[in-house]
Amino acid sequence: MFYDAVEGISRDSLAALQTERLRRSVATCLASPFYGKRLRALGLGPENFNSPDDVRKLPFTVKDDLRAGYPDGFLCQPRDAFIRLHVSSGTTGAPTAVYYTANDVDSWSHLVARCMHAVGLRRGDVFQNMSGYGLFTGGLGIHYGAERLGCLTVPAGAGNSKRQLKLLRDFGVDGVHIIPSYALHFGHFLQQEGIEPGDLKWRFALIGAEPHTERARRRIEELLGLKAFNSYGLTEMNGPGVAFECAAQAGMHVWEDAYIAEIVDPVSGEALPDGEVGELVMTTLCRDGMPLLRYRTRDLTRFIPGECACGRTHRRLDRITGRTDDMIIIKGCNVFPMQIEQALMAMPEVAPNYLIELYQENDMDQIRVKVEIQDEVFAADDRTRAALHKRLVARLRDEILVTPAVELVRRGSIPPAEGKAVRVDDRRVHEDCRSGA
Ligand code: AMP
Ligand code: ZN
Repeated sequence: MFYDAVEGISRDSLAALQTERLRRSVATCLASPFYGKRLRALGLGPENFNSPDDVRKLPFTVKDDLRAGYPDGFLCQPRDAFIRLHVSSGTTGAPTAVYYTANDVDSWSHLVARCMHAVGLRRGDVFQNMSGYGLFTGGLGIHYGAERLGCLTVPAGAGNSKRQLKLLRDFGVDGVHIIPSYALHFGHFLQQEGIEPGDLKWRFALIGAEPHTERARRRIEELLGLKAFNSYGLTEMNGPGVAFECAAQAGMHVWEDAYIAEIVDPVSGEALPDGEVGELVMTTLCRDGMPLLRYRTRDLTRFIPGECACGRTHRRLDRITGRTDDMIIIKGCNVFPMQIEQALMAMPEVAPNYLIELYQENDMDQIRVKVEIQDEVFAADDRTRAALHKRLVARLRDEILVTPAVELVRRGSIPPAEGKAVRVDDRRVHEDCRSGA
């Protein structure tokens, strides 16, 4: 019934498995420059871990640790043991890189195959990956999982809706992976093409990589005429395949044989009781090359109490309801407001004040940057302003990897904030982020 018997393992056996794997991860980490130093300073070794809760003996690992360790301060194996790397999105400042050994790619592919099986895909199905390839883990990560399951896998990549539609039809695609914002866009494209939901053979869409509401999911299901399943992952924890909805669509099972997941109070760092919303903290249990211990994801969510109708024993995470930092995800790209500021401030024509507006159009999140410009440029002719506008859009796109709408405004027209500058005006409607009916 399950892809892997471990999906239905008893909680006791799961705890024993987690403990054994936690010890192994700690032992592996002793070989990394970052953790080796840290663990030795604390006098901690594998023998100190006798239950999954003992993970709390470890300090947190944060994104800045990864940045400081870039490019290879977290590697636990010799260089030639690694066969792949992915880099988290965004181009400014220090990026973070995750390296994979052949075993790591193998166990990751297995987890993704497990997720795809849980929604109902099977060997012999045709699967089209409509998300971007490249450094983004949603490309190769999902691709390898689909092949592992035994699907005929179509590496379509993102965009070019006409070609996507042709592939879907020509190969009789059963399931796709698509980010929610593109799914909505694609749904509207199908409407324009006069294609009714149900005209296509497809039955499953895996949607994730960015926050979306239950309402957006239902809309995607109606527009595309299929079932859509929430998929959660992050580069630091491999990528997709960390937590996934099953056919019950009632929260995402987090694969606890591969990760220890904790929900902590984002301020105190203390564990929160089941059911309370806090920051998700994760420890890898199956990674040889670059294990991470108690990584703070910055994602806010909760464990859904109770058991799932599907019989899987791994706990379920609710939809991600927000972040503890100011990261915004637009069209699948992670954007920090500071990236926008840096791009703008590098241009002398730009005055110091700007505003990032987030809004929704056709159920999709959109970004507009209002930029105050110097008086002499504002007073110049239309051609000069249009040229500046073009350069600004290109510069921002290079920086954040999505094309924002840009509005040039007169200096002084954005009302100054009374206290700390307010740079983001978020007008998106996010009223129903919770899972389930
Ligand atoms: P990246 O490492 O660039 O793939 O980005 C990972 C981040 O994307 C996560 O930390 C979340 O903030 C976000 N994310 C991924 N999957 C989902 C999902 N299903 N729902 C909401 N946010 C998600
Ligand atoms: Zn389930």
